[in-house]
Amino acid sequence: MDNCPLCLAGNEQLIWENGLVRVINANEPDYPCYTRVIWQQHVKEMSDLPESQQLAFMRYVFCVESVQRDILAPEKINLAQFGNMVPHLHWHIIPRYKNDRHFPGSTWSPPHFEQANAPAQYQTWLANLNSLKPTYHQALAQALAQL
Ligand SMILES: [Zn+2]
Repeated sequence: MDNCPLCLAGNEQLIWENGLVRVINANEPDYPCYTRVIWQQHVKEMSDLPESQQLAFMRYVFCVESVQRDILAPEKINLAQFGNMVPHLHWHIIPRYKNDRHFPGSTWSPPHFEQANAPAQYQTWLANLNSLKPTYHQALAQALAQL
């Protein structure tokens, strides 16, 4: 669709794609390894897809989850699918940590502190995740290609 940002796919940091999905870095400074899996075609609801495509889509999402567990060792992984603003199927896969700015609230909840007032342990945690990001993206691209 002409006015859909996920159809236009501009300004995305692509990790991997095929004909069905593309997997991108969400580019959220609070969450360096936040990843999105986007259905390539403009489809509004999961139940609009035939069952084989629903299952294929979820296999990619669960692959991202598995690689996050292996490489990033998060406290918990959040999976979310909303699309209220952009009704084009996409899943959010967010590794969560006790040190992140919103834990245990959702990443959309008010943060516990502002970046400017972040405790030292937060800065250490964030730097560590940023340093793992290239390894994570490389492992993720390899795992997705092997599905
Ligand atoms: Zn679209």
